[in-house]
Amino acid sequence: MTKVDKKKCIGCGTCVSVCPQVFVMGSDNKAKVKAQKDIPCVDEAIKSCPSDAIS
Ligand code: SF4
Repeated sequence: MTKVDKKKCIGCGTCVSVCPQVFVMGSDNKAKVKAQKDIPCVDEAIKSCPSDAIS
């Protein structure tokens, strides 16, 4: 299951750019998972996140 640690997320928006099928920005300016999907861009987002907030 894909998760975003809101304490670590700095709200850069990279995961949403890389994988909009799974990530969306919340009203708190932190990313959240909008749909659990097993697709390659999830791994891309995990690697791209500057604060290691995605697991
Ligand atoms: S890439 Fe990481 S730090 Fe940036 S919005 Fe997504 S979860 Fe937050």
